[in-house]
Amino acid sequence: MSHDPARVERIKANLAAARTRIEEACHKADRNPSEVSLVAVTKTRPAEDVRILASLGVTDVGENRDQEAAPKAAATADLDLTWHFVGQLQTNKAKSVASYADVVHSVDRDRLARALGDRAASAGRRLTCLVQVDLDDGSQAGVLGPRGGVDPADALDLAARIDGHDALTLGGVMAVAPREGDPHEAFGRLYEVACRIRDRYPLATVISAGMSGDLEAAIERGATHLRLGTALLGDRGPIVG
Ligand SMILES: *Cc1c(COP(=O)(O)O)cnc(C)c1O
Repeated sequence: MSHDPARVERIKANLAAARTRIEEACHKADRNPSEVSLVAVTKTRPAEDVRILASLGVTDVGENRDQEAAPKAAATADLDLTWHFVGQLQTNKAKSVASYADVVHSVDRDRLARALGDRAASAGRRLTCLVQVDLDDGSQAGVLGPRGGVDPADALDLAARIDGHDALTLGGVMAVAPREGDPHEAFGRLYEVACRIRDRYPLATVISAGMSGDLEAAIERGATHLRLGTALLGDRGPIVG
């Protein structure tokens, strides 16, 4: 089946624009664009968009809900993509996620790390896990719902738990910028946590930060992975769930 040419052109143009933003931000921050990887977040978008992205050279895709990710990963299993799970995750979904994900960005508690590790082990797989760090100051969480993440002070302990599990590889850290305030400041705090973890685990180099609206700030503060949804695939409409 061939792709809708108009959709291909749209996504191609969006990808080019995103790569230009990344290059300009890297230039400003005196970094090499090759240090920054792009994860295309395909939530709410059909598997067809995943195929188009793959045809345009994208190798890494992300989803934030298991109910949506599992069928999409299955529908595109022939493409040999790297699947990133980036959303808040209930422990009872660990078995499903461990069956298709390669990287889980949103590990924020011991119990979840252990569940993912045990499930990956029984499936004969290895999972790379990132410690999700909470950058909110706590004041907004009650109103708008928590975005997940471990308290920065507890991040190193959680990193040790992940590193200690046979089926898990500690990849680094991840965060979502607070809804308000300066993302540079928040991503600066993430960078400090990342350095503390990397001091002890030199291979844990990933800093997953930066979405469509704040990728420049993330690059300036050391991000190695950007998670881009709307910048590549357009508006999702009203957020559900
Ligand atoms: C949806 C989502 C993204 C992508 O957000 P955009 O603003 O569309 O780029 C990144 N990270 C997480 C955790 C998400 O849920």
